[in-house]
Amino acid sequence: MALIVQKYGGSSVADAASIKRVAKRVAEAKRAGHDVVVVVSAMGDTTDELIDLATQVTPMPPQREMDILLTAGERISMSLLAMAIHNLGIDAKSFTGQQAGVLTDEAYGKARIIDVTPSRIRQTIAQGSVAIVAGFQGVNPSTNDVTTLGRGGSDTTAVALAAALKADVCEIYTDVDGVFTADPRIVPNARKLERVTYDEMLDLAASGAKVLVLRCVEYARRYGVPIHVRSSFSTHTGTLVTDEPAPEGETVEQPIIAGVAHDRSEAKITVVGVPDVPGKAARIFEVVAGAGVNIDMIVQNVSAASTGLTDISFTLPASDGAAGTAALTEHQPDIGFASLQYDDTIGKLSLVGAGMKSHPGVSARFFAALSEAGINIEMISTSEIRISVVTRADSLDEAVRAVHTAFDLDSASDEAVVYGGTGR
Ligand code: ASP
Ligand code: MG
Repeated sequence: MALIVQKYGGSSVADAASIKRVAKRVAEAKRAGHDVVVVVSAMGDTTDELIDLATQVTPMPPQREMDILLTAGERISMSLLAMAIHNLGIDAKSFTGQQAGVLTDEAYGKARIIDVTPSRIRQTIAQGSVAIVAGFQGVNPSTNDVTTLGRGGSDTTAVALAAALKADVCEIYTDVDGVFTADPRIVPNARKLERVTYDEMLDLAASGAKVLVLRCVEYARRYGVPIHVRSSFSTHTGTLVTDEPAPEGETVEQPIIAGVAHDRSEAKITVVGVPDVPGKAARIFEVVAGAGVNIDMIVQNVSAASTGLTDISFTLPASDGAAGTAALTEHQPDIGFASLQYDDTIGKLSLVGAGMKSHPGVSARFFAALSEAGINIEMISTSEIRISVVTRADSLDEAVRAVHTAFDLDSASDEAVVYGGTGR
């Protein structure tokens, strides 16, 4: 008998029929003798619809009210799922994030979990019932105000609960069969990974893979929670995210590459004509950081000796584009640059794999694949286990497919199935 935390995403609980289907799966695990804690996301596109609704009421919804509004989505799915499980003859109780003891800091819309005190959840499973917890939400214990964890935050709720309860596994149920070597929506013959390490999964998530949210992977790595990513629409074994080596006989060798991730959510700012003297880059990034903007890649061009001026480009989330540009414009006189260029039609592609460290020739093969596909590279950055490039947004899909093929990641057999979701 094990303690299992299961998390079901929005597309797995999109309507009444789906909720009944999920209830059956939960009941099966329970009847098999396991203790089961379930974390749910809001039904289908509910969170997006609530955001749309708020912006119809006011262009600038107060953050506190926005968080209260959005937590309603998960309350709907949690209670309906509890009812559906009840209807199958198994007792189930649903709890808000606050009731489940998910304590966070004060940052509305992107709160961090600071502690989990799940006494009511422990009680519920000790009584033989299934506990259902609303994902993506918690409470700030100093104000008692509810908070949300940022988009996709139910994954983090599930892993945090699994860590606090010392669960045997955290199963993340989604609309694909696991973690693939690329997004199956772009590369239909992407291959499912049997296992992936925390570091690889972190880089994939940070590089735009949407299957797991970044913070959930950070949390899982910190507490050593094994994650099993699988589909709620099939019974196939999914992908295990863990640093435990595969059991003897299961794998031959660690593959060099885990996968190719892509990201369309970034934009690029170029600061043109920056005086090429010490301290200017520091000032630029101080100003951008002061506006609360996280930056990603940075490139500084060689300055033309005759002018003594250089250009510095960096990428940032497109949603922070206005804040970043405004902050720099305000400080243009003291930094002394000539002008700013803003470009949100870029795409980022990243090749991730722990085997890169010990295999020569990965970069050569990567850039050859892009060049053969006629793709122009605008920026490059690397880490020990990742190479990322920025391209034009409209050549990103082709770039992903070219790199995927070049590293022999295409599956010879079946096409990856995308079971649900609107991709919204
Ligand atoms: N419902 C929230 C969202 O759409 C949280 C989640 O799905 O994990 O982002
Ligand atoms: Mg999600």
